[in-house]
Amino acid sequence: MTDTTSQAGALPAPRIRLHDGHEIPQLGVGVYQVPPPDTAENVETALRIGYRHVDGAQMYENETGVGEGLRRSGVPREDVFLTSKLANGAHRPDDARAAFDRTLEQLGTDHVDLFLVHWPLPTRYDGDFLSTWRVLEELRDSGRARSIGVSNFQVEHLEVLARAGASMPVVNQVECHPYFLNDDVRSWCREHDVVVEAWSPIAQGGVLDDPVVRDVADALGRTPAQVVLRWHLQSGHVVFPKSVTPSRLEENGALFDFELDESQMARISDLDKGEDGRTGPNPDDFDYVG
Ligand code: NAD
Repeated sequence: MTDTTSQAGALPAPRIRLHDGHEIPQLGVGVYQVPPPDTAENVETALRIGYRHVDGAQMYENETGVGEGLRRSGVPREDVFLTSKLANGAHRPDDARAAFDRTLEQLGTDHVDLFLVHWPLPTRYDGDFLSTWRVLEELRDSGRARSIGVSNFQVEHLEVLARAGASMPVVNQVECHPYFLNDDVRSWCREHDVVVEAWSPIAQGGVLDDPVVRDVADALGRTPAQVVLRWHLQSGHVVFPKSVTPSRLEENGALFDFELDESQMARISDLDKGEDGRTGPNPDDFDYVG
C-alpha cells in the first residue's frame, strides 16, 4: 500500500497496488440505487468532497450520469478511478463486447480503470463464465479496461479461472461487512493476491445500531458508519459506501485521522454471523439476467 494521494482537493485515501501494477484508491463512492436523474449531482458532489473513485455498473443504469458528474466536477479524468461491471444479460462474448462499448460511450471516456464480471451466474449460460472472462482479458489487452476483476465469485468460481490458466482477477468485489465477513472468499483472495472490495460495507445501514459498533464509536468520538468503514480500511478492504446525502458523503470520507486499536478491531470482527449475516443474494444460485 502506498501512502496517500497528493492530488489537490483529494481525500487522503491510501492507494492499494493491484497485482497488475495499477493502483486503486481504497475509498470510493458507490452509485448502486442512485436514481439516474440524480447521479450526475451525486458524483459531482462526491468528487468535490475529494473522492477519487466511483464504483458503477451497467445494471445500475446510471452510467451517463456518472460521466456527466465527472465532467461537471472539473476533476481531470486521469485523477479519477472509474469502475464498471458487465450486465448479467450480456455474458455471451459478442454481447459483452457490445455492452462494454456502450459503457465507454455513456461514461464519455476512452477507458475504465476497472471492469468486472458482476456475477458468476453459475446456473446460466451453461455455467460458462470462463468465455466471458476471456473477453475481459481482451478488453484489458486493448487498454480500454486498465484492470479487470470479478464480483461475487465464490472460491469454486475463482478456481475455475485458476485451473484454466486464465489471468487472475485483480479484485473480487463481494458482500462483506461486520455481520458477514465472507471468510472463505477473503482467505482465498489473500492467498492469491486478489484485493477484496467490500460491497454494502455498512450492510446498507444494518450494522449501525449494533451495540458493539455504537460502543466503539462512543469511545472514539466517531459515528458508527465511520467506525465500520475504518474497520474495513484497516482490514485491507476497498470500500465505496453509497449516499446521496452530502453530509453523509462528508462523514464517510472523514476516516483518516483516527484508528481502531486491536481489541476494537477484534470486537467488530466478532460480530460475524456467517451465512446468516448475508443481506444480498447467494452467488451460487443468483440467476437474475434482467
Ligand atoms: P452501503 O452499505 O454502502 O449502504 C448504503 C446505505 O446506507 C445508503 O443508502 C444510506 O441509506 C445509508 N448510509 C450511507 N452512509 C451513511 C451514514 N454515514 N450514516 C447512516 N446511514 C448511511 O450499501 P450499498 O449501496 O449496497 O453498497 C455500496 C456500494 O457497493 C454500491 O453503491 C455499489 O457500488 C456496490 N455494490 C455492489 C454489489 C455487487 O454485486 N457487486 C452489490 C451491492 C452494492
